[in-house]
Amino acid sequence: MADNLDISWWQRLPVHGWRIVGVVESADEIPQKLPRNGAVLVGTRTYPKWIAFDCPCRSGHRILLNADKARRPYWSVTTQGNLTIYPSIDYRDANGRCHFFIRNGRITWAYGRDDE
Ligand SMILES: [Zn+2]
Repeated sequence: MADNLDISWWQRLPVHGWRIVGVVESADEIPQKLPRNGAVLVGTRTYPKWIAFDCPCRSGHRILLNADKARRPYWSVTTQGNLTIYPSIDYRDANGRCHFFIRNGRITWAYGRDDE
């Protein structure tokens, strides 16, 4: 691993790929507790409406993204195999910002606090 890359400690942990662990019909059916690296689709695999998962920062907050092309902003989601979500996820709340990419089941953290 190149020394000049700014890679956070949790990215060095063994990776168990992110994937879809379930599909539910409505957002109320999203389980309170999700498995590690597991995301749930609301809708169907063919026509997902939402994707929900616990933020990879592990502080316990949930991320819910719109996967319905009819609404904006919209995230495209691979529904088979290792998870890819496009574009990046940029979540902000009072505690800070979580900005990351999910590609092929792996998280890559984006940096940019200093540029903001
Ligand atoms: Zn987070």
